[in-house]
Amino acid sequence: MKPSAGQNYISLLAKAAGGAKLRVDQMAKLLLPPNAECERELFAAAYKLKRQICGDLVNLRGLIELSNICTRDCLYCGIRKSNSKVNRYTMGIDEVLEAAELAGKFGYGSIVIQSGERSDRSFTDFIETILREISRLSYAPGITLSCGEQSFETYCRWRDAGAKRYLLRIESSDPALFAAIHPAGTSYRARRMALHRLRRAGYQLGTGVMIGLPGQTVEQLAKDIKFFRDMDVDMIGMGPFLPQDDTPLGKQFPDTPGAPEERLKLSLRMIAVARLVLRDVNIASTTALQAIDPAQGREKGLLAGANVIMPNVGSTSHRRDYQLYNGKPALDENAGSVRQALIASLAAIGERPRLDGHGDPLHFFRRNGKLK
Ligand code: SAH
Repeated sequence: MKPSAGQNYISLLAKAAGGAKLRVDQMAKLLLPPNAECERELFAAAYKLKRQICGDLVNLRGLIELSNICTRDCLYCGIRKSNSKVNRYTMGIDEVLEAAELAGKFGYGSIVIQSGERSDRSFTDFIETILREISRLSYAPGITLSCGEQSFETYCRWRDAGAKRYLLRIESSDPALFAAIHPAGTSYRARRMALHRLRRAGYQLGTGVMIGLPGQTVEQLAKDIKFFRDMDVDMIGMGPFLPQDDTPLGKQFPDTPGAPEERLKLSLRMIAVARLVLRDVNIASTTALQAIDPAQGREKGLLAGANVIMPNVGSTSHRRDYQLYNGKPALDENAGSVRQALIASLAAIGERPRLDGHGDPLHFFRRNGKLK
């Protein structure tokens, strides 16, 4: 008798879980479980691997949204330079240090500094100053930057000032889809080159994509995972595309009923397949998941194989001005009660925060020959 679609799926899943090197068509197949039972098995296999690699620990990073001033005009992004509705801000150094200290007080171990993209000297100098100041804090946090495409010299300068990880999403590894969601002049090739530059500069390297973009296919998403594997990255941050009302893409493709939930599901499957393919990398359960499912989005991400959460530690006054997409959760995660709630919700799924060290991705040490 011919095996059913479900049996075929489960046997491919077992191969993936066992560490077989998958082809793109096999990854695409895993991204489309034929029934709910197969989908549960996918999440279970990815979560099992997460537990083998990271135990029951979740790395928490304090997120600081440093500035929403941006020189780019990405068609999906709420802080694109042409969005005149945005009230632009840049945090002062004292505000940044306060946020970084708060992360330390909460035991987060690491922080992420994210901003709109600028490469003028006053900005690159400012980041350098911030990095030196934060590195001097008594808890010596691991610092991740997410400040866009920069020159090799800037990346080196920032590394020397204390940054050790960098997140730069490729957004889509498909050049045609990339072109469709960016204005003329934003080049796929340039973004790829920036990833290579970061690699050469010695960073722990992270990339990622948006999931559920208009016109995006499962085949393209499978190729995104192959791209992560080929780039040999250490960290993945990816999440659902969320239309933002004041952007060209958000206006052209407003949400239809049920669409966000579909994108959430697809994003969870992407996390699971990425875990199975990439094994020992850090994978973030991103805020965008939480935007679709405020109560359980991030927990679902962890149960699909993610091992990093990035609670916002910046002051709440800037949150509403850093609206990359609609529905961004506006919680004050600094309030002790919310932090308690986060820890409780982790405990409810059998996970706990790592409260020591920087939570480096094992993959980084493995690819540098420091681990077997
Ligand atoms: N400027 C920096 C980072 C800031 S934006 C850089 O270029 O890397 C961080 C990420 O938010 C982007 O990489 C993008 O993937 C995501 N993002 C922006 N707009 C979004 C939207 N409408 N829906 C979902 N994710 C979005």
